[in-house]
Amino acid sequence: MSTPAKLAVNGAAGRMGRQLLMAIAEHPAAHLTGAADAPGQPTIGIDTSVLSGGEATGVAVTDNVSVLLKSSQVIVDFTAPAVSLGVLEAVTNTTVAVVVGTTGFNAQQLKQLEAYALKTPIMFAPNYSVGVTVALDLLDKAARALGDDYDVEIIEAHHRHKVDAPSGTALTMGDVVAKALGRDLNECAVYGREGITGARDTQTIGFETIRAGDIIGDHTVLFAGNGERIEITHRATDRMTFARGAIRAAVWLASQPPGLYDMRDVLGLT
Ligand code: NAD
Repeated sequence: MSTPAKLAVNGAAGRMGRQLLMAIAEHPAAHLTGAADAPGQPTIGIDTSVLSGGEATGVAVTDNVSVLLKSSQVIVDFTAPAVSLGVLEAVTNTTVAVVVGTTGFNAQQLKQLEAYALKTPIMFAPNYSVGVTVALDLLDKAARALGDDYDVEIIEAHHRHKVDAPSGTALTMGDVVAKALGRDLNECAVYGREGITGARDTQTIGFETIRAGDIIGDHTVLFAGNGERIEITHRATDRMTFARGAIRAAVWLASQPPGLYDMRDVLGLT
């Protein structure tokens, strides 16, 4: 068997960070070589096993991301847009690759991320679950077959702590459908409705957001025509599904040249 990929986690103390540590521990081709979180956090300096459970790893959480560059091939980062861009800046001119799990980038930040991919292998997916990746493929097929006669609405639900809306996954679903229908999501998206909205414009794609309790992530894309409707739904019931997908992606990314990749590349769907 080849040498395990050396992986570090940034945002290690977060909801996803802890799951990523667990997913690395259970992956036979991955080895944890570093972990970081924000300066001032009580978790700085502790062994990562305190966050993930299990036996001591000998890897202490640092507050300095540049420490990760010395020991790791790939940094897996689920934090916040500005933090992720800081990691991409730090790895430029090194051989370290980055799996970006963070969502909520604005258009200008996305351009910056794309520019970093000229020098760094970057994996960027708003959702690392295998199921969502397959759902995106189904949505492309459905939209092409149904065409403009069916209204498209995207409904997503997440836990009360989520800070961005609509979810990155919902936006990606909208983008896939818009492209399949020959539309530009920036021009046809409608975010929520209130008051006297007038009749629905058939060319729009609507988004509805629910934030409640501990919902991990539900997405439904509704294609509604005359006399019938199709709903394609994905429900995540465990964050480990994202973490396992991200670690699978990180192991794959360790041997790739600079470029911008997504989960479809990992699953061979491109
Ligand atoms: P969280 O708030 O629980 O965790 C974020 C972590 O980042 C915290 O531990 C925080 O201290 C740390 N952090 C903040 N600033 C930092 C810095 N400067 N350096 C290092 N660490 C820093 O959030 P979460 O629920 O784990 O989500 C994190 C991100 O991942 C969000 O953008 C979320 O939408 C996204 N997410 C993506 C997927 C996916 O499959 N792509 C799945 C779930 C969540």
